[in-house]
Amino acid sequence: MVGKVTGVGKNVTKFEVGDLAAVGCIVDSCEHCHACEKDLEMFCTEGVTFSFNSVDKHTGGLTFGGFSKSYVCKEQATLKVPESLGLAAAAPLSCAGITAYSPLRHWQAGPGKVVGIIGIGGLGHIAIKIAKAMGAKVIVYTTSPAKVDDAKRLGADDAVLSSNEQQMTKYAGKVDLFIDTVSANTM
Ligand SMILES: [Zn+2]
Repeated sequence: MVGKVTGVGKNVTKFEVGDLAAVGCIVDSCEHCHACEKDLEMFCTEGVTFSFNSVDKHTGGLTFGGFSKSYVCKEQATLKVPESLGLAAAAPLSCAGITAYSPLRHWQAGPGKVVGIIGIGGLGHIAIKIAKAMGAKVIVYTTSPAKVDDAKRLGADDAVLSSNEQQMTKYAGKVDLFIDTVSANTM
């Protein structure tokens, strides 16, 4: 979710009232267990709090994510949004963006690497843009002929129709990393 800061606590140093801010999927964790100490808050042994539909450990209420009119959040779970980026462009980055960025970064997508992206819905769309920005060659795999042009318009170097066996051989053995954004069993 994204929004404008309307108030800050006395220990907040990164934000002032009026700043634009983004909040991702995780808003709270214990900060002292072995997982939290390795920046793996997702695996917090005391339980992680998600921005949406989690029990807030401090108030006992539920978190309502972007459906909230206002949101109180730890500074550590809040990102600064540059004015030049704007709220509409920043919002998808705090969910689909980080989801696509994390494996691309972990597996070192970049110049000289070929990244295959399976599916171009919300995640695939943003994965194309991030992989290209990292300098990788991007090949999109889609079942939909109508999405081939979309894939190229979004920056993909090539798009393969996965329903076409001949096309599927084109990059066989040449892709360094696949990002599978399709929830169906594709094998
Ligand atoms: Zn923890």
